[in-house]
Amino acid sequence: MLKANHTIQANKDYLSELDRAIGDGDHGINMARGFAEVQNKISRELNQDIGALCQNIAMTLLSKVGGASGPLYGTAFIKMASVFKGKEKVSLDEFSKALHEAVNGIKMRGKAAPGEKTLLDVWEPVSSYVAEYVADLSWQSLKSFAYQQMENTRPLEAKKGRASYLGPRSAGHLDPGAVSSYYLFEALCLTMLK
Ligand code: ADP
Ligand code: MG
Ligand code: MG
Repeated sequence: MLKANHTIQANKDYLSELDRAIGDGDHGINMARGFAEVQNKISRELNQDIGALCQNIAMTLLSKVGGASGPLYGTAFIKMASVFKGKEKVSLDEFSKALHEAVNGIKMRGKAAPGEKTLLDVWEPVSSYVAEYVADLSWQSLKSFAYQQMENTRPLEAKKGRASYLGPRSAGHLDPGAVSSYYLFEALCLTMLK
């Protein structure tokens, strides 16, 4: 989360610029505000276990990010928290299960389907990739895979969220939420590679 926050702060203007092209231009501001507070909270408070940590992150994102993305990221972390409850260590199997639940939560909240140019277009394939390679996961490959999924949102026409108001004119731009989601998975992969 600290690494993700670092990337989000460094790319705050870029995320807002992406959102200016197809939305209302606040995604960088929203994410930077939320993740700065996540960093604050998790450095200050003692989190008993990974479940409690994820729950803490979820509540912070829900209350601080705002927009469409805040409740979606919040839901993702609430769902992961339920799988990680009481655990001080998690296996790849449990991580895979948590991602699966997070994806279900994002779908339930946002009602988006894959290919509708949202952050789900990173979360869903990443979750499937982890499930498929759970016995032999390469964090380096997962990072490249997540990057590719982010890139794949460029040609799509948005069907959900503000970008959908643009119809076909939303094609040709990266989805801002897909980019911030990539930053999260990139941070995780880099941390696991260390
Ligand atoms: P807002 O659009 O309310 O200003 P943000 O700019 O913070 O909120 O977030 C926009 C991002 O939220 C989009 O790029 C997209 O990835 C994601 N998003 C919007 N609506 C949905 C939805 N229904 N399901 C999944 N993701 C969505
Ligand atoms: Mg926005
Ligand atoms: Mg907004």
